[in-house]
Amino acid sequence: MGAVVCVPQNGAHFRMNTISSSNPAEQSKQREQSPTCSEFQAALKLAGQAFKFAEEYQTPPVPKAYEVWYSYAGGECDQINNRIDAIIENGGAFSSYEIEQICDQLRQAGEADHEHPEATGQKLDKEMDAILSLVRTYLASSESFSGSLNRTAQSLSDAAKPEQVRKTIELLITENDKMRNETAKLNSSLEQTKQQVQELRTNLEKARESGLRDALTNLGNRRRFELVLAKEIAEAHAEKTELCLAIGDLDHFKRVNDTFGHPIGDEVLKFFASLLTKNVKGRDTAARYGGEEFAIILPITKLADAKNLIEQIRSQLETTDLVLSKSQKPLGKVTASFGIAKLRESDDPLSLVERADAKLYEAKHAGRNRVLCDDAG
Ligand code: GH3
Ligand code: MG
Ligand code: MG
Repeated sequence: MGAVVCVPQNGAHFRMNTISSSNPAEQSKQREQSPTCSEFQAALKLAGQAFKFAEEYQTPPVPKAYEVWYSYAGGECDQINNRIDAIIENGGAFSSYEIEQICDQLRQAGEADHEHPEATGQKLDKEMDAILSLVRTYLASSESFSGSLNRTAQSLSDAAKPEQVRKTIELLITENDKMRNETAKLNSSLEQTKQQVQELRTNLEKARESGLRDALTNLGNRRRFELVLAKEIAEAHAEKTELCLAIGDLDHFKRVNDTFGHPIGDEVLKFFASLLTKNVKGRDTAARYGGEEFAIILPITKLADAKNLIEQIRSQLETTDLVLSKSQKPLGKVTASFGIAKLRESDDPLSLVERADAKLYEAKHAGRNRVLCDDAG
């Protein structure tokens, strides 16, 4: 399978990375990313148990119920397992509301876990700083002690005091030097430890960051989208600033996969993601919302400006001819539809997403390849 080459209408060419199943480096990367056999078996076992629980307690047949039982079977969170145990003890009637509540609790627990590594790193760093400052203080006082002993020895020898006294003081100075060297060594090994802790913290931050990134497009993933949206909405409400949210979905994308294969579909997703990245700036956030659906958070942005920007992205996609690099075969026109919603005072993240989504749905039904807004822009 060849690479996909994008030929914009002005004639300039650029090549997108190939995703090829025959590429050994890619294969080994994929192997690294895939779960091990035993992890897979363990997950399968938990899945089986989750289904059994769902059947036994006749929970509503929704994915959230499965999520809850999967976590229960794996004993992921004591608090949640206790809550479920209590319901079971009371007869085991799980309502949809109950499932929703437990699921929310599960997500919050996950969030707390996620923040944990960074907090641990910072705590370690703080402790290390405190120890270092203690050692430095000790070293400084030891140096001044050493200086005063030196001066005492000098005055003693000037005054030709008895040999015995001078020797005693010389001995004290030697001992003090030894102590100073030891402390310096301790200081340097503590500095090294601090560097290691800092490296560890950087690694933890990297792991946290990669957990918020979509591996295919390198955009933020759904989780990052949710975190950023909640934060930006809170800020927009507090600062009384405008905020718009756009949700875009590639049109008839299934056809691209069916006609050219999944790897080429992936390349198209990457290309679309690169268009988004190219067009958003500053505090704007483009994220992969799911499958072939993307979200763009636009803080401090008027609806008319959001519409212009999204229209620009839509038009750039429509006017880019995508062709297969090897055969030069065209992929045909790839387009996307978008819905935009402007934040209202009464909005929370869910209601804003729902309005943008509703407009996207309308755009699809109105013929696709268009941008619709939930308010006059
Ligand atoms: P519509 O215009 O109504 O959105 O039609 P559609 O075909 O785009 O929508 P549909 O929901 O029927 O199909 C979405 C397709 O997107 C099906 C799915 O296989 C594909 N898809 C989702 N995620 C990926 C991905 O990561 N890579 C590839 N290649 N395809 C994906
Ligand atoms: Mg689609
Ligand atoms: Mg879709």
